[in-house]
Amino acid sequence: MRWTGGRRSDNVEDQRRSGVGKGTIGGIIGVLIILAIGLLMGADPVSLLSTIAGESGSLDGISQPGALSAADNESADFVSVVLADTEDTWQEIFAQQGRVYEQPKLVLFSGGVDSACGFAESAMGPFYCPTDQKVYIDLDFYRELKDQLGAPGDFAQAYVIAHEVGHHVQNLLGTSDQVQRLQSQSDESTANRYSVLLELQADCYAGVWANHADTSRHIIEAGDIEEAMNAASKIGDDTLQKQSQGYVVPDSFTHGTSAQRVKWFKTGIDSGEIGSCDTFNATVV
Ligand SMILES: [Zn+2]
Repeated sequence: MRWTGGRRSDNVEDQRRSGVGKGTIGGIIGVLIILAIGLLMGADPVSLLSTIAGESGSLDGISQPGALSAADNESADFVSVVLADTEDTWQEIFAQQGRVYEQPKLVLFSGGVDSACGFAESAMGPFYCPTDQKVYIDLDFYRELKDQLGAPGDFAQAYVIAHEVGHHVQNLLGTSDQVQRLQSQSDESTANRYSVLLELQADCYAGVWANHADTSRHIIEAGDIEEAMNAASKIGDDTLQKQSQGYVVPDSFTHGTSAQRVKWFKTGIDSGEIGSCDTFNATVV
């Protein structure tokens, strides 16, 4: 991805040096709290993978805020450029519809963070909190994406931000509220299905961003789209579940299968139109 010359966003809140200290939460109660918060907030499922698989050891391993490496700072710089690019893109799309795009904040944190949606651990993965309209990400997630989940590349990282910003767009358009209302009147499996449709729409919005950003700023290089599609496929519910428990439980899916995530991301990229992202009324999801 061509990004170094891009605009930096004013909306990044760097809390990496003030991460929540070690031992804030411990033991099995901590695990349950994390899972509960994660499910309530619809956090990306990497957390569940690492928590269930017991790989992360994150409860005891909340990183101590310390000196930031050059790589950490470059990563933060990259996120700032991607966020700025989503701001320019969504501002333009909203303006075309006579709407005003309210820019979300993006919080960088290490280990754990207090959000308006509650305390969150890094192990839950990046997330968007509609209450404070902020995207939260621990940049260590990118290491996990590359090393544990097999999805390297800067455009894969950009896709993660664009997906979370997609949730912000859903919040501004009222989609998240509508879905929450429907979910409160549904059984668990139907509620999960709504959650999948919301997630796939956020993937599609990430694609819409990629389309617009490339048209106006030519950011995409050879191999970028494949990187993002690979990431979308590596964080599909079926793939993550198979990795963590060896079998797949479709009723418990909350983000969509790998094939669905790739499909909707691609739909957004190809069309560049938010109208093409109506996962709720699609005949085939
Ligand atoms: Zn999501």
